[in-house]
Order: sequence, then C-alpha cells, then structure tokens
Amino acid sequence: MAMIEGRTGSWEMVIGLEVHAQVVSEAKLFSGAATAFGAEPNTQVSLVDAALPGMLPVLNRACVEQAVKTGLGLKARINLHSVFERKNYFYADLPAGYQISQYLEPIVGAGSVTLDLEGGSSREIGIERLHLEQDAGKSLHDQHPTKSYIDLNRSGVALMEIVSKPDLRSPEEVGAYLHKLRSILRYLGTCDGNMEEGSLRCDVNVSVRKPGDPLGTRCEIKNVNSIRFVQQAIAFEAKRQVGLLEEGEAIVQETRLFDSNTGRTRSMRGKEEAHDYRYFPDPDLLPLELDPAWVAEIEAGLPELPDDKKLRFIADFGLSPYDAGVLVADRETAAYFEAVAEGRDPKIAANWVTSELFGALNRNDLELAQSPVDAAELGGLIDLVADGTLSGRLAKEVFDEMWRTGRQAAEIVEEKGLKQISDAGEIEAIVAKIVAENAGQVAQFRSGNEKVIGWFVGQVMKATQGKANPKLVNEVLRKALAG
Ligand code: ADP
Ligand code: MG
Repeated sequence: MAMIEGRTGSWEMVIGLEVHAQVVSEAKLFSGAATAFGAEPNTQVSLVDAALPGMLPVLNRACVEQAVKTGLGLKARINLHSVFERKNYFYADLPAGYQISQYLEPIVGAGSVTLDLEGGSSREIGIERLHLEQDAGKSLHDQHPTKSYIDLNRSGVALMEIVSKPDLRSPEEVGAYLHKLRSILRYLGTCDGNMEEGSLRCDVNVSVRKPGDPLGTRCEIKNVNSIRFVQQAIAFEAKRQVGLLEEGEAIVQETRLFDSNTGRTRSMRGKEEAHDYRYFPDPDLLPLELDPAWVAEIEAGLPELPDDKKLRFIADFGLSPYDAGVLVADRETAAYFEAVAEGRDPKIAANWVTSELFGALNRNDLELAQSPVDAAELGGLIDLVADGTLSGRLAKEVFDEMWRTGRQAAEIVEEKGLKQISDAGEIEAIVAKIVAENAGQVAQFRSGNEKVIGWFVGQVMKATQGKANPKLVNEVLRKALAG
C-alpha cells in the first residue's frame, strides 16, 4: 500500500473511480444515428440527438444488451427494473438542456473486479453500480480565432458509467483496476477501451485519511484520458490534500482538472450535488423492464473472461500465475498463445510468445494483429526445435529472419543450411580432430579441470557454425576426452 509520509505521520490514499465507457453499438442510445469515430462533424446527428422540439427517444435494445452483458462480466446484480431520468444542466453542446441518465434505479447494481497484484496476490474491488446514459456533443474551441463550434456527432451516443466503491488505495492499484476493467470490457466486446479516442474516460475521486479514520472529504478530478495521467493526478492530489490537512486547513469538496503539462490539479468548480441537477424520471420513456429469460440467455452466451482463462491456463498448461496473467490480458493474445500451444509443450509455447514475440512486437511498436509471424508459423518453428532439426540458439536467428521476411521457418532452415547436425558420425569426426589438435586442453581435462569441456563445446560449435546438436556434442566429447 502506498502511504504518504507527512509531518504528522502516515496518510492513506482512498480512491474511487467513475469510468465512462462508450458502448460498442452501431446506433445511439435513443436514436438510429451512426456512432463511428472520426466522421465529419455533424454528419451523424438525428433530430432526436439535436433535441428538436417534439422528438421522442426510442431505446436501443442492443445498448441495453451490452450493459447487461457488462454487468454480468462484473459479477454484478442485474436490476430487472430500472428507470431513465433527466439530469438537467445547461451546456452549449447539450441542446436538450438535460442528459438522459439513470440515477436512483440503475440497470446494474453491486459487483466486483479482481485486481492481480504484484507477487501473485489479488484483491477484490467493489463496483457500486453501472448505469446507462447518453453522451453530450463536443465543443471545438480550436477551429476559429473568436468562435467555438459545436459537433453533435457524439450527442446521444450510449455510455456505461461504471462506478467503483472507494476501495482503491494507491496509483498502482488504480492502474491495475483500469487495465483489468478494460480487459473485461474488450473480452465482452461491449467497449473498445480506446482511451485516446475517448471511448474510456475516467473521473477520479481522491481523499486521504490516517489509517483507521473514517473517510475524508474527496475531490473529483474530471476526464483524465490516460492511465498514466490518472496515476499522476492521484499522486499529486493526495499530496496536496495532506499538505492542506497538516496546515490545519479543511478539504473543500470540489471538481478539479488535471493539467498533463504541469502534472498538477487545479480547481474547476465547486462540487455540484445531485439536487443541483433536478433529476426526475424522463416522462418520454417507460421504466425499463427486463425479461429474466433474456438475461439468462445473455449470461449463457458470455465468453470465457480473463480471470477464468487465467485459472485454466495455470491448471491445464502448468503456467506460472505471472505468465498466465500476461497471456490472458487481451483476448487476441490468449487465442494466439492457445493456437501455438495446441499439440505442443505449453511452457515452451508460452516462453516463445512472451519473450521472442512480445519482444519483437515491442521493439517495432506493433500490435499482435500486425505481427508478421502468425501462430501457425511460430508453431512450425517450435516444431523444428522439438524434433531436433534446429538448435535453440539458431531458432532465435530463424525467428528474426521470419519476422523480417514473413517466410516460414522450414524454408529458411533449408535455404540457409541451418539444419542441426545430429549425425553422430559427423560429430565424432569433428571432435576427433579438435581433440588431436589440442593436447594441452585435453591434459587439463584429464587432470580434473571439468570446466574445459565448455571450451571444447565452443570449438565444435565454431567448426559447425553453431549447427551441432549440443546434447550430442556433449556426449561425444565426454567419450573422446575420457580417452
Ligand atoms: P458523484 O456523481 O457525486 O461524483 P458518484 O456516486 O457518481 O457521485 O461517485 C462517487 C465516487 O466517489 C465513487 O467512485 C466513490 O467510490 C467515490 N468516493 C466516495 N467517497 C469517497 C471518498 N471519501 N474518497 C474517495 N473516493 C470516494
Ligand atoms: Mg461524479
């Protein structure tokens, strides 16, 4: 746990997150307009999204299904009865003057997310609720020297607001929580988790206290758009609060902004309370009633989620919790690994994927989908090592060549004559020659200096350009040196 050491002792950070996750859906929450990212401004706006008088919202069933799916993935309670309410506020990019959201009766209740912490331990973080709401439009302040423009493409797009309990205790835990949450959403296919495009946005609530004390007053930092910035914002904000409290000042509950250029948070406005929004049930929408059979059907169709997959990888493949955790972090990686491991030694497969493949992807700043070596090709390479055709050392060189050229391992081995020498007669001849030419080293070995064997192995490898089967070389050498 990260504590802050102050003048008056240690302080504990308390953090709760409100994550806005954009629902993967072709159409908006209450209209048929499209949702694709990056379209020309104001080309994906229906009359409902522009809030023209008299337009009526019609609930999109696909968005509801996504919210239910997400709730189930968060091991949460699904509320069969929920209510859409109007959250009233004025903003230039909110033409209706209110946002349709859920308040007292959200679609999803309490759930949890499991954090995988360093050292293999884990911790449950409570989810308070998940509700559906519409997004607002966007104000563009950088298009004209004196005017602001409004783009309503985002107006009405479905969001899931996922609210955690104040269970998080450090920037590291918050990082682990966001990674895990994003991983679950991506597995479910309910949010693409892309923070740069704004499909996952995060409001961070931070307070500090002396361990064992009741919760302190929190500040909320709005719309932080990367995990690293979230962590920086928390570290700064917690220190700021400790500084104030130790000076005998009180924390004012307020909304703050994080400035990524300075790494500081600054006051934006006093915290608004629920009553400021004058929430009331939207008279244009009936309460949402879900059929339990439909919820059960959605549950039956859920994919295997990262926590279960991790347990299976540990149990079935004998992987370490760490390797299993790395391999299940995203669905594509897990599928790639499983395809490589199929019919092969899973630990060797895991090793190739996490060291050689990940290393090459990182060095070249590529996603797995862009890898020039697919799962079948990597499997082919591993097979050549397993059947003795290729030594482990040369296999890495072949991998690099596969990466550069996109060619198959067998082809490269054939063309470059990299086939391992596993013919005992051939190796015996080479060994005999080296032994004959190096009487000094032979004498050393025979007088008990076992380590010289390494030097002999090196000589054989040099003579064969590394192609001799190391196991065989050892056997033949020991026999020859024994005299
Ligand atoms: P609001 O809309 O007023 O911000 P929400 O219920 O949407 O209220 O969100 C409250 C968030 O603040 C939750 O994530 C909760 O865990 C967190 N939170 C509540 N109390 C504290 C506290 N004392 N310190 C830190 N976080 C807190
Ligand atoms: Mg809030």
